[in-house]
Amino acid sequence: MFVSDILAQKGIGVHSVAPTTSVAEVSQQLSVRRIGSVLVIDGHGTVLGIVSERDVVRALASEGAAALALEVSQIMTREVVTCDPDDSIEEVMQAMTSGRFRHLPVVRHGDLLGLVSIGDVVKARLAETRHETEALKAYIVAG
Ligand code: AMP
Repeated sequence: MFVSDILAQKGIGVHSVAPTTSVAEVSQQLSVRRIGSVLVIDGHGTVLGIVSERDVVRALASEGAAALALEVSQIMTREVVTCDPDDSIEEVMQAMTSGRFRHLPVVRHGDLLGLVSIGDVVKARLAETRHETEALKAYIVAG
């Protein structure tokens, strides 16, 4: 199974915010949309960074309530690791494990196509395992 299969199921599109958005506003969006991260993009659609709930917690721990008034550009991660639609689920799991993050934007030829989360990957892997089990059962019964 590949990243493109996940996107085909969940659809393309990514939640994003402008770099000047406040941390309070981003927290609101993460909560209302029930997501763990948003991409930070400029007016041309260029990805400037990614901010996840972990960055918000880290900022709150170091700045206290004042963190809520910061701009998201002040707390985001700037070096964003991305994946390709043709990457396998295993490659994505490897990237998330070694990078210690749970979100990977999907980019092809510079175009942002979507974002896969660790939840999407686990769901896809479970479906794959179920298929393998069914195939093995059918093979045994046929034999
Ligand atoms: P997460 O586990 O995705 O909530 O993120 C943990 C940390 O990694 C946070 O500091 C995020 O800003 C950062 N992060 C999340 N996704 C990525 C990514 N694709 N590339 C680089 N950093 C990321």
